Amino acid sequence: MYELEPVFVQCPYCWEQIEILVDCSVLRQDYVEDCSVCCRPIAITAHTADGEVTGVDARSEDE
Ligand SMILES: [Zn+2]
Repeated sequence: MYELEPVFVQCPYCWEQIEILVDCSVLRQDYVEDCSVCCRPIAITAHTADGEVTGVDARSEDE
């Protein structure tokens, strides 16, 4: 089962809400996604359980 769930996070640079897709088949994932508004790299940490997103954290990459 491979399911992508759309989640909104706030960009740590421009503070816009952006939509990311989280792979619910992975319990914990860290990756970098460029902001769709300001194009700067956001370090995303996402947690899932039972195929649902339980938490998402977005940080600037240099922290
Ligand atoms: Zn941004």
